[in-house]
Amino acid sequence: VRARVMQVEHSPDVTYADIGGLEEQMQEVRETVEMPLDRPEMFEQVGIQPPSGVLLYGPPGTGKTMLAKAVANQTDATFIKMAGSELVHKFIGEGAKLVRDLFEVARENEPAVLFIDEIDAIASKRTDSKTSGDAEVQRTMMQLLSEMDGFEDRGEVRIIAATNRFDMLDEAILRPGRFDRLIEIPKPDEEGREVIFQIHTRKMNVDVDVDFAELADLTGEASGADIKAMCTEAGMFAIRDDRTEVYMQDFLDAYEKISQTGDDDPDEAL
Ligand code: ATP
Repeated sequence: VRARVMQVEHSPDVTYADIGGLEEQMQEVRETVEMPLDRPEMFEQVGIQPPSGVLLYGPPGTGKTMLAKAVANQTDATFIKMAGSELVHKFIGEGAKLVRDLFEVARENEPAVLFIDEIDAIASKRTDSKTSGDAEVQRTMMQLLSEMDGFEDRGEVRIIAATNRFDMLDEAILRPGRFDRLIEIPKPDEEGREVIFQIHTRKMNVDVDVDFAELADLTGEASGADIKAMCTEAGMFAIRDDRTEVYMQDFLDAYEKISQTGDDDPDEAL
């Protein structure tokens, strides 16, 4: 079961240099997550408990997973990922057991960065309905909170959670000692988009007149994931044309193609 729902990776290959446009957020994550992993003795000597976890919130595809991986890379830690949705729709007691397993695997592999994606799946505001499904989800969340409160044996395990639905979260999860740092990860601004275009074309054979500033100006609502998809699509246009060099026009065609798909599904639109 573990292997199926947990992703465990030692020191993943994502670095801060692969992330565009999130300077302030990166700084904050480094301070709160990296410092306690790198220099735990500082916290001991000062006599304070490091923050146990940070919560990253914002739209999909903006780099939340990347940030968690970059921290694990930088601190040479094990990256352990699980999606909140994997913790629901299980047999009674199974969600709580998976949470216990998750922390156990983290402790066995410390230093570790535990990344819980879609935390809203188990940490949404209490609903009035008393169906057993809800009660089971509640139990899973209680288990998570109790693991987070178990300071002494948490060791060198830091928790990063992520959500696209900040408004849905139960306040219990935001209490001090739990996710006491909330970091918003927004869509990139124009400058950020330009950097992200540069990052995702690093290994591409692009023509000198590809203008990243213009592309950044054009792609107003794009997330980092959208920009990555656009770069791949531009490469596909070159290949279809039997070229190994990617032109500005390929990026423009890619933009058009991707924006069109968005007509059917507004969530996917750039
Ligand atoms: P979700 O909420 O959907 O899980 P996320 O915020 O965790 O999304 P990531 O998985 O980090 O998003 O990003 C998906 C992909 O999009 C990354 O692998 C990367 O290629 C690209 N990407 C997203 N944001 C950025 C960014 N700020 N800089 C560079 N690339 C980015």
